Amino acid sequence: MSEKLLVVSDSPTDRVIIQKILHDSEIITACDSSEVRRHLDENPDIDLIILDITMPNMAGFQILNDLKSDTRYTNTHILILTNYDEPESEVKGLKLGAADYIRKPLNTESLKVRIGIHLKLIRIQQLYEQRMHEHSVTFDALFQQAPIGIAISHAGESLTAGSNNWISINPIFEQITGRTSEEIMELGWEKITHPDDLVADRNNFERLQSGQIRSYAMEKRYIRPDNTMVWVHMIVAPINLSGKHKSSHICLIQDITERKAIERVVNESERSKAVLLDNLPGMMYRCFFDKDWTMQYVSNGCFELTGYSPGRLLYNRDLSYNDLILPKYQNWLWERWEKAVYEHTKLTEEYEIITASGETKWVWEQGQGIYDENGQIVALEGLIIDITDRKNNEIRLKYLNEKNPETGLLNLRSFELIYAENYHLDTESKRAAIMVNLRRFSAINSVYGYRFGVKLIQDIAKCLISLVSEDRLLFHIANDQFVFYMVNYRDKQNLNHFCERIIRTLDTGIAQKTFCFNIGILEIDKYTCDDAENVLKRVMSASKQINDHERFGYCIFSNAMEQKQQREITILNALTETLSKEQDPSLFMVYQPILDFKTNEIAGFEALARYKNDDLGEISPIEFIPIAESSQLMGLLGKRIMRIVFAFAAYISREGYHPIAFYINISAIQLLSETFLSDVNELIRETGVVPRNLTFEITESVFANNYQEINEKLDKLKTMGIKIAIDDFGTGYSSLARQRELNVDCLKIDKYFINKLIHVRTENAITGDIISMAHKLGHWVVAEGVECEKQRQYLMENNCDMMQGYLYSKPLAEQAAIDLLNQSVNHCRIRYKAN
Ligand code: C2E
Ligand code: CA
Ligand code: CA
Repeated sequence: MSEKLLVVSDSPTDRVIIQKILHDSEIITACDSSEVRRHLDENPDIDLIILDITMPNMAGFQILNDLKSDTRYTNTHILILTNYDEPESEVKGLKLGAADYIRKPLNTESLKVRIGIHLKLIRIQQLYEQRMHEHSVTFDALFQQAPIGIAISHAGESLTAGSNNWISINPIFEQITGRTSEEIMELGWEKITHPDDLVADRNNFERLQSGQIRSYAMEKRYIRPDNTMVWVHMIVAPINLSGKHKSSHICLIQDITERKAIERVVNESERSKAVLLDNLPGMMYRCFFDKDWTMQYVSNGCFELTGYSPGRLLYNRDLSYNDLILPKYQNWLWERWEKAVYEHTKLTEEYEIITASGETKWVWEQGQGIYDENGQIVALEGLIIDITDRKNNEIRLKYLNEKNPETGLLNLRSFELIYAENYHLDTESKRAAIMVNLRRFSAINSVYGYRFGVKLIQDIAKCLISLVSEDRLLFHIANDQFVFYMVNYRDKQNLNHFCERIIRTLDTGIAQKTFCFNIGILEIDKYTCDDAENVLKRVMSASKQINDHERFGYCIFSNAMEQKQQREITILNALTETLSKEQDPSLFMVYQPILDFKTNEIAGFEALARYKNDDLGEISPIEFIPIAESSQLMGLLGKRIMRIVFAFAAYISREGYHPIAFYINISAIQLLSETFLSDVNELIRETGVVPRNLTFEITESVFANNYQEINEKLDKLKTMGIKIAIDDFGTGYSSLARQRELNVDCLKIDKYFINKLIHVRTENAITGDIISMAHKLGHWVVAEGVECEKQRQYLMENNCDMMQGYLYSKPLAEQAAIDLLNQSVNHCRIRYKAN
């Protein structure tokens, strides 16, 4: 780029010389001040003026002075041409603002060099100005658009009220403080600073000004016009904008109100966490996932739990947490944690630790892994609490739950659990159950006392424990019953041998030789023995097969037993079904006439139960009554039977026959039931039967256990008008002597004695004695099972009152019984009924 120069001189020669020398530049020439003005107006971009001072009438000085006092040209470079012998003009020109002087006569070379230097200088100056301009544009943009508040001020203490020394405040600063620049300048920073932050701010500022610090940062509050606070982070630093302002500074602020609010919440939650941690019943921790469980944090509860202060465990200072864990749990716990960490799940475990005092404690630990953003484990955090008391109780309860407290052997519950577990796991190996049953244990207790009983059971347990092996577990499932659960035996012979061993062991181990044992064996079949109950039922039924006369005996469960059991289940189901219905013809009654020897007429009927259905055919009461008795059904069945018989008896008496007695068999179980008397009353009301026409047959065995209670019940029945007969007399428990005390009216002599009359010579038969004894006690006597004339003859001769048996009639259906009554002449004749 070529420069533009204005050459002012009245000498045409000089002008030409200069033009020639500076031929590279654009030269404009002027010879007087008016020409100078004109050229300057037309060419505002003139870079350099060369002004000849030596013009006449001081015109040069005048032009120089005019130019320098015009603000447009104060910065314009002016070189003056002076005469070599007038040094005072040089001084004067420089004073007036000339940049330099060149002496005449003009020397081509030096002129060239001088001007060259000035042009270079001008160029540098121009460049500098351009830069400055660019900087200020950038600064303005930053200042206006920066996302932080910026204020720049001059002069230190100037920031007080009304001092008006702020030079710049950007829009964000205004926005944060909620005030305009004017307001801020008017009030000064102290007035808008929160009083609590003022002292610190002032101190900082003073130290900054005195040069003690180079800058400062602080968090402070400004008061906004609406009196709300705004928290800011503020940085104050000195800046040197220009030489004029010695202590200018810049203040940057950032709104941190929101962060402060969060901080407050966090602080509050940190505080409550600390309170919580210190008051937790147990020890909170944060540790590395390493085999020492190196603790990074341990709450104060550590001391109470372990006896060590937290500091001793931190970073394994004195010992590691792993040192506290009982060795048998160490690997296990590590594996549990590995799993939890791998699966990112919580860990909850119980184990034992040893405290500082050497005491063992049960602890409960719950914790979880802490992972970084890549899912890498960084630490574990959790809680450990003392559960020793609970655990001890649990262990005790578990013991009580699983073991028999007297022998310490696993109990029934355990057998059920272990069997269930084993049933699903083990499908291949052979398994058997062997039950050892002490016979008549309750009798032993009542004779020798309970203490003796307990001791005896413990002795038996001791003997049997000596036979336990890995494949033979022993359970004490009830007072007098032990069960061996055997796996992996070879064959039946194996089992028999084992039973022989049991017998030998008990024989030598138990001193008293009067105690007897039944042993049942069951080879477990997976399909029929799907639960422990089925196993025990079967092995028990095998043990019951043993003859009472043997001291020791064993019996292996067979399919026949199984079939019998199966049939029992079928019958039980059928009975249950029948009794669930209001009426069911499957259950019905037959009536066997009882003949009065004196009148030779029917005095009554014994009601006998029958059950018949398509699947089972007709079943004897000898079979189904015991099944009902051994289940809960007997009460219901007995009541159903009474209802049928009472209704029939009521019908017969309503029909007007001579009073007919109905003998009904009452099972011991029925009689013992609490609701028996109320049931009878209810049925009497319901059917309208006359109680006088009812005789209840009971067997002697009912007196065996609850003599007093039964006798009182019988008394109540008698006051209602119902009569009592002892069934099957002579076969059971009671003796004739006892009959006196019993509330009974009638004896039914068992068929056994009647049968004897056929074979034994009549004079030797005791049946006659039984009859006369019964009469002496005021009882009437019925002979059962009379089948032949010889028996009838004997009974008649010995004053027996009545007889029942095939000789006269088999049991009859209702209609047949009525027909028989009608055939009897007397009965027909004395029918009172009007129609
Ligand atoms: P039980 O009470 O001794 O009944 C007499 C049994 O002898 C009846 O057998 C009857 O049919 C049978 N019998 C009658 N006369 C003769 C005879 O001359 N010769 C022979 N060999 N037998 C004769 P059943 O009906 O089979 O009853 C058997 C047992 O079932 C009864 O013996 C009784 O103990 C019980 N039972 C029957 N019905 C009921 C009932 O309704 N309730 C209760 N709890 N038990 C009943
Ligand atoms: Ca009977
Ligand atoms: Ca009988």
